[in-house]
Amino acid sequence: MNFDLIVIGSGPGGYVAAIRAAQCGMQVAVVEKAELGGICLNWGCIPTKSLLKSAQVLDYTRQAADYGVKAGEAKADFSAVIARSRGVADKMSKGIQYLFKKNNITILNGRGSLLAGKKVRVEQLDGTSETHEAQHIILATGARSRVLPTIPQDGKRIIGYRQALTLEHKPASMLVVGSGAIGSELAWFYNAMGTKVTLVEFMPNILPVEDEEVSKQVARSFKKAGIDVLVKSSVESVDASGELLKVSIRNKKDEIEIHEVETVLSAVGITPNIENIGLEDAGIEIEKGRIKVDDFYRTNVEGIYAIGDIVHGPALAHVASAEAICCVEKIAGLSPEPIDYGNIPGCTYTSPEVASVGLTEAKALEAGFELKVGKFPFTASGKASAAGANEGFVKLIFNAADDTLLGAHLVGANVTEMIAELVVARKKKITGRELIATIHPHPTMSEAVMEAAAAAHGETVHL
Ligand SMILES: Cc1cc2nc3c(=O)[nH]c(=O)nc-3n(C[C@H](O)[C@H](O)[C@H](O)COP(=O)(O)OP(=O)(O)OC[C@H]3O[C@@H](n4cnc5c(N)ncnc54)[C@H](O)[C@@H]3O)c2cc1C
Repeated sequence: MNFDLIVIGSGPGGYVAAIRAAQCGMQVAVVEKAELGGICLNWGCIPTKSLLKSAQVLDYTRQAADYGVKAGEAKADFSAVIARSRGVADKMSKGIQYLFKKNNITILNGRGSLLAGKKVRVEQLDGTSETHEAQHIILATGARSRVLPTIPQDGKRIIGYRQALTLEHKPASMLVVGSGAIGSELAWFYNAMGTKVTLVEFMPNILPVEDEEVSKQVARSFKKAGIDVLVKSSVESVDASGELLKVSIRNKKDEIEIHEVETVLSAVGITPNIENIGLEDAGIEIEKGRIKVDDFYRTNVEGIYAIGDIVHGPALAHVASAEAICCVEKIAGLSPEPIDYGNIPGCTYTSPEVASVGLTEAKALEAGFELKVGKFPFTASGKASAAGANEGFVKLIFNAADDTLLGAHLVGANVTEMIAELVVARKKKITGRELIATIHPHPTMSEAVMEAAAAAHGETVHL
């Protein structure tokens, strides 16, 4: 069949591209070899947040007495927690099916690959295949868990994120390698479920891309919750010959420690899915392991585009979706703005949560800015005290020269819901003074933003 657009992959890059293209009047087909909705809906953002919600409910119930509530002994039913997460993911995936139908988008089940001349071959599970043509083809095939040679995954005892979302029973002990958002979230989840968790990070701080003060706060909270945190440490090998795995770790003193655990979760990043999709046949250029694209996601071959985890930029769902819209609107002859990769929020849904945008203090100094930094702790927030959630702070970094916001770093309860204000502030070049003059509702956690801006100007008026 002939289409205006064929999208390969139905994650937050692919499905958003397909729907926006249909809205722009194109005849669209999406090729998908697994579940609709991609990693985000089925194996990433959504099922992890569902698991973390269960952990939070458990935590709250255990602390019920602090709120004057008698709730009895709270216990997690691990398989029910996993089942709830799978149910939430399935429902979201079905939602994509509904949206495709509503927008008259054709679903082509199977593995898609490019053929020369803007053709796409779709191989079904039964081995049959068909070829479709389109004026435009968007590649949105996403990524998978990165496998290190020192930590070969067997999918049972040495696992990646996929298995961590569907384990049949809760391990007694788990060593999580890598403390980015995925490693930290899963470390927090398993610890809350009652697994003895050790988190190993090669860099000097966990959540290494975050502002150092934020990373240190999360490390304190993790340790208080019972997670063993090892920084400046690397896993040298995993011996799977015995009943327990023997993990050899080079620690910060450059000595070898052996840890015996039931499960190792490798969370050391992702590998883009760029193999076996016909890039060579179509003559598409690759740069540093990702597909090379311009500001509007055009590859070097006319009519072929790439978005999401297979191109440069942070591997995040909202980035993939923003790229999808920018790419499709350009194809449709509209005038989308290129994405500002300096203004992308990042969130980690541990307890406390972390949310940030822009430069860390270290990066801002490195870039040569003179800074005005303001910090407001949640210990001084009325809403946080009422909620029993005093951990954390809002830290804002302003350019002393013009009072614009260079970076915002939040750690605390629900801060992932607060960061968008600061993304807008950066986009619209709103100054610290303007943030101070913007009335924030009382009592809310968001007042801490206004207060942190005031602190940067030496004008804090509240506690
Ligand atoms: C555990 C975990 C938690 C995460 N949490 C968050 C979060 O909280 N917030 C956030 O922003 N991001 C999060 N992410 C990252 C986010 O999931 C990805 O950045 C996002 O899914 C990328 O979207 P995409 O469209 O590029 O690809 P994907 O979502 O990976 O989708 C690609 C799709 O393409 C299909 N496909 C691949 N090859 C072919 C082929 N040849 N033919 C047909 N179909 C094919 C795949 O089956 C898949 O469905 C998380 C990731 C993980 C692993």
